[in-house]
Formats: sequence, structure tokens, C-alpha cells
Amino acid sequence: MTKLRFDAVAKASSRKPVEVDAPKEKTSEYFGSKVFNRKAMAKYLSEETFKALCKVIDKGEKMDRKIAEHVAAGMRMWALEKGVTHYTHWFHPLTDGTAEKHDAFVEHDGQGGMIEEFSGKILAQQEPDASSFPSGGLRNTFEARGYSAWDPSSPAFIVGDTLCIPTIFISYTGEALDYKTPLLKSIAAVNKAATDVCHYFHPDVSKVYSFLGWEQEYFLVDEALFAARPDLALTGRTLMSHESAKNQQLEDHYFGSIPLRVLLFMEELEFEAYKLGIPIKTRHNEVAPNQFELAPIYEECNLAVDHNLLIMSLMRKVARHHNFRVLLHEKPFKGINGSGKHNNWSLGTDTGINLLSPGKNTEENLLFITFVVNILAAVHKNNGMLKASISSATNAHRLGANEAPPAIISVFLGTEVSNILDKFENSSLEDAIVAIGKKGVSLGVGQIPEIIFDNTDRNRTSPFAFTGNRFEFRAAGSSANCASAMTALNASVAEQLRVFKVEVDALIQNGKSKQEALYQVLKKHIKESRVIRFNGNGYSEEWKAEAAKRGLDCETSVPVIYDSYTSTQSIKTYEGILNEVELHARNEVKWETYTKKIQIESRVLGDLSLNHIIPVAIQYQSVLLKNISRLKEIYLDSEKFQELAKEQLRLVEKISYHVNSINAKAHQMKDTRKTANAIESEREKAIVYHDEVAPFFDSIRYHIDKLELIVDNEMWTLPKYRELLFIR
Ligand code: ADP
Ligand code: MG
Repeated sequence: MTKLRFDAVAKASSRKPVEVDAPKEKTSEYFGSKVFNRKAMAKYLSEETFKALCKVIDKGEKMDRKIAEHVAAGMRMWALEKGVTHYTHWFHPLTDGTAEKHDAFVEHDGQGGMIEEFSGKILAQQEPDASSFPSGGLRNTFEARGYSAWDPSSPAFIVGDTLCIPTIFISYTGEALDYKTPLLKSIAAVNKAATDVCHYFHPDVSKVYSFLGWEQEYFLVDEALFAARPDLALTGRTLMSHESAKNQQLEDHYFGSIPLRVLLFMEELEFEAYKLGIPIKTRHNEVAPNQFELAPIYEECNLAVDHNLLIMSLMRKVARHHNFRVLLHEKPFKGINGSGKHNNWSLGTDTGINLLSPGKNTEENLLFITFVVNILAAVHKNNGMLKASISSATNAHRLGANEAPPAIISVFLGTEVSNILDKFENSSLEDAIVAIGKKGVSLGVGQIPEIIFDNTDRNRTSPFAFTGNRFEFRAAGSSANCASAMTALNASVAEQLRVFKVEVDALIQNGKSKQEALYQVLKKHIKESRVIRFNGNGYSEEWKAEAAKRGLDCETSVPVIYDSYTSTQSIKTYEGILNEVELHARNEVKWETYTKKIQIESRVLGDLSLNHIIPVAIQYQSVLLKNISRLKEIYLDSEKFQELAKEQLRLVEKISYHVNSINAKAHQMKDTRKTANAIESEREKAIVYHDEVAPFFDSIRYHIDKLELIVDNEMWTLPKYRELLFIR
């Protein structure tokens, strides 16, 4: 095993960069070449079918069977020309990844031969066996069927020899078993609610899009070193290892020059992403050694989520080609930064207005303020549920751990927007509304000047920050499916916008002018949601105390955080998106997943403690003891002996102390697990895993990391941080 470590280190440090077959053409020439996009549709579909499909995509109209048949025929022709032999419905079950089951295009031709077959029926709907996917009790064991149904708003694409068709995944009785179904519903809900509110200002708006631009952080580790770390391989993170003497304290990695091996990995990843129509824009080193980030140009939310899932699976694949493993875990290494996935989110109209972009005049700014205030109110009402949407066993290592957003959701607006809202709130109605002839209405609040943002006014400690023309929901984890956070956010904002409209309309019916009504209701919501606004340091202890005083959700235990999903407010928020039964089922899945993750980590840590760490420590202790007894043979029990054997004797005792502590705790941890496993309720079980099993991790690790410092380096079996973390 020690040999494995040193072989791995030698292999990793002698790697040559892997050359990449770069396309010769400009990016614009091959971008989207593996996507059945509008260009391909126009070429492979009749004009009539093309137009009908565009209507389905743009207007959400129902797909007619005949059209599905025509689309399937065109799609098949396109795919066959590209050498594709298989197809699959591609969906997002409630796990960390995507699911696919490949079928070949072939069918019997009735004459002993084969033909390539792909019908509209197969395109539109399939019945994969749902029994092996988490369902939280929604799927009865006797009814294992689930349906996957085509989502035409995300285009089909080719990976390898397979045509992938993005689909939703629902149970036989219609409940959602995936991330995409509620996401699509939340997008439709916010579209409807935001369009209605836009009509106070712009009657010509007929659609509001939600946009998402994710920033994906990740680590790379050499494959050989990864293979020598069972904890990394099985749990995605290192459960032990002392910090490297040098890690990120010199701040020399962030935005530094990218090592050639990594750069070539990034280039290949980008080529592959471009072919799949993923508009990657940015790549750079992140704060921690071996940590990097990539980000695309933002896209419509559903497509952006699909693209993020695709990029995560592409990263895993391309990394292998470069003898790397990609770590998407939120906290692979102790003592250095973890990885997140900032979700940059905004709303925009089909007429080209970004609803989160401050305007140039009063009218435009009233629209802007309307949306900002409603978002504040939505985040305020749903702050616990929004936290639940990004909480997981793995993300818990970041949240509240003094590096990433705190485990309290608040909104950072920056000084400009905060000042405007303060003025708005404190001006009297008479002062505020001054009619200006037919041009409409102007607000007395300093005429809301043109807002110019200082982009340096950024608060890295905020989980939800306004950054000039969008909000950044920064609390999402690097391994997460963005759909969870985006569904929660879209649903919250949609519900609040509906409430807002009812309130404004009521005032209008009571004889108030539209402007007066808007003004009054906005003012009320500014006041009520004030407590969600926080521009200070989110990491400070004072904020935790202050947030609790303000009534914000300060719960830090992940299994308990999930309770917010089924609060009265949450059930209202998710109306039409996920019903109460589905919300409860999702929580069952979340608790179960939480338990399993901690359980796996606990088992791996227990095994490594007992069969890697303790044996090596004892082996080294034997060397020391041998040395001591040889010294004793020569010097007998003299003062000289005491002097010469002093350090060895001290180490022998230390080793015994750590070994005994590890051994005792590993066994206690196992017993605790056993008790926990007997608990029936998934919620209660997860709570015991959180409260009683997980705390062993740090205490066992403490002793292991101490041993790592003591034991002869030549004997230590697991690659150390200093070896894992610095790609040359
Ligand atoms: P940083 O926050 O690190 O400065 P960037 O400026 O690179 O990041 O942008 C991060 C992401 O935000 C990108 O995906 C970008 O396309 C996206 N973005 C920019 N404007 C918007 C917007 N109006 N709506 C949603 N996402 C946006
Ligand atoms: Mg950002």
C-alpha cells in the first residue's frame, strides 16, 4: 500500500500533458453541431412541422401526435446522418445525476433483416422501470412503472453514438419523480405571474423568461492519487489528512496562470461543450489549489439546468482522458475553500426588458423596483424553504462554515438600491406621486435617478446578492442540480407576484389610480420584508444573533432544515408546482439520501481507521519499540538510556493514545449507527445521523491527522494533501 502511494505520486508528477484534437474551424462553425436546434429542425422538418414545433416550444402549446411523428422522422434522419445508432430518454431522477437507458434504432423489417426505426410514440413517451429510482413512497412496489415524456423546450442532442431526448419523469399516477417536472411548472408559474404584473407597465409583454447563468466550481486531482484514496473514491471527499504546510495562504492560485495539463483539459471540455450548444464563456483558477471554475453565458432556466447537468457529466468524462478525476463535492479538502455553484438569476420579457435592470427614467425604475421589492418579499416569506432547497449532507460543509454563505438566507442589495427603497418607504404618498399630464406618473422620491452601479460594491458573504442586473443565489452546492434552487426561487417569486397583483387590483377597484395602488402596496412590502435585507458581514457572530432576532430561519441541522418544505407558506408557494403529497415525498427522499451519505462516510472512515491507520501506526510503534529495547540492551536502565530513548518513549505513548482513541471512537460510531439504522422514520433517522453519527468524523479525524504527523512518512499509506493538491 505504501508502494501504491509512492507509485501514484511518481506517476502524477511525471505526467505529460495530453494533447487534444482541436477542431480546425472557428467555434461559431461547429457550435451546436450535436444539437437538434432550430437550424437542424428547419433543415430536417417540413415547413409545416417546423412551424408547429416552434409553437409548441415558444408558446407551450400541446403537441399533436401527427407532428410528433413528423418530428421523430426528421430527428432520426438527422441523427443517422451523424452516425448515431441508439436513442435514450434523458431525465433527472432525484439523485445527483441523470438517467438514461439506451435502445438501438433497429427493428425487424419482417423479412429477416433490420431497419432503423424511431417513431413519434417513442419520442414522446416511454415507460422506464421506476422502481430503482428514489420516489419517497410515491411509487407503490406493485406499480413500478413510471413515464418519461419529451420536453420539447430543451432540444435533443447527441452524446457518443446516442441521441438523447430530454424528458420529464413522472409516476404512473402522475406525481413528479424528477427535478425537471417541477422546474418547468415553476417557470410557467413565474412567467404567468410576472407577465400579469408587467401589464401594469407594458401591456405588450406576452412572456417573461427566467434566466440562469451558473458558475461551476470544481477540483481536479490526478487519477493515480485519487485511486490511492479510498475515501475520495467512495465519498467524493477526504475524510482525513493533515493540512498541507502550504495551501492557499499565499493567495497565489486565484486567477493565476492555469497549468498546461489543466488548460488542455479545459480546452477539450470546451470543444465538447460547444458542440452540444453550451455557451461556455469563462474559465479560471479558483481560490484553493487545484480548484477551478467555468461559467457559460446565461440561458433560459430550463436549458441552463440541462446544460449544467450535461457539463458535469462531460467534465467527468473529459477529466479521465487527461488522467484527472474531477471532484464536484462541496468540500473535498479540509482547511481550504470548498466549491459552490452560484446561480445568477433574472427575469426578462419577450420584448427585451431585463426586469432586474435599473432603468433610465422614473417609469422604468418603478418597474425595476416593483420586481426587486417582490423578490425581497418572496425571499423573506420563504427564507427557510429556500435554504432547504440548497441544503444537503455535502453542502453542509460549506454553509455556515465560515467561507461560503452563512446558513441564514438574507439579501444583499448594495447601497444604491437600499437607499432608494429607504426613500420610497419613508416618503408620504402625497409627496411621492405627482401626476405629469398624460405622460404618466412620476414619483417624488428623488425622481429615482438613473442608477449607476459600482460593481465593486459586492458582498461575498451574502447568500443572495443583487449584482447590478440579476440576483446571485450563491448558496447552491457545486454538486447539486440547480433545478432545486431555481424551482424554489421561481415558485416563491411567482406566488408573491400573484399576491401583489391581488392587492394592487383591490386598491384599483376601490378607486385608487394604478400608480397610487402600486405605490401603496410596494411600500407595505418594503416595510414587511425589511428584515431580509442585510448588507453587512454574513460570517460574523453578530449577524447570527441579529438574524435570530429578526425572525429569520437560523436552523443549521440539515434534516431539520428540510421541515421548511412542508410549512404552510411552502405549501402555498408550491401550489400548482408540487402538491403536499409530492413535497412530503421529496422530503422522504432527502432524509434518506442524507442518512445514506453520512452512513457511507461513516463506514469508510471506520474501515480506514481500523485497517489502514491503526496497523500503520502500530507498525511504526514497533519500530520505535525495537529501537528502545536495543538501546536498553546496550545502556541498560541507566540515565543515558533514559536520555537516548526519551523521544521514542514519548512517541510510543502518543501513538498508543491516538490508536486507542481512534479504536474506541470507531466502535462507538458503529454502535451509534446500528441504533440509528433501527429507527423507522426517515426524518428521525437522519436527525440521529446528523446529531450523533456525524460528530464522530471530526473527533476521529483529529487523532488520525495527529498520527499522520508522527508516523514515518515512508510507512504512511494514503497520499497526503501536499501530494494531492498541487498539479504542476
Ligand atoms: P462573476 O459573478 O464571477 O463576476 P460573471 O460576470 O462571469 O461572474 O457572470 C456570472 C454569470 O452570470 C454568467 O453565467 C453570466 O452569463 C451570468 N449573467 C450575466 N447577466 C445575467 C442576467 N441578467 N441574468 C442571469 N444571468 C446573468
Ligand atoms: Mg458570480
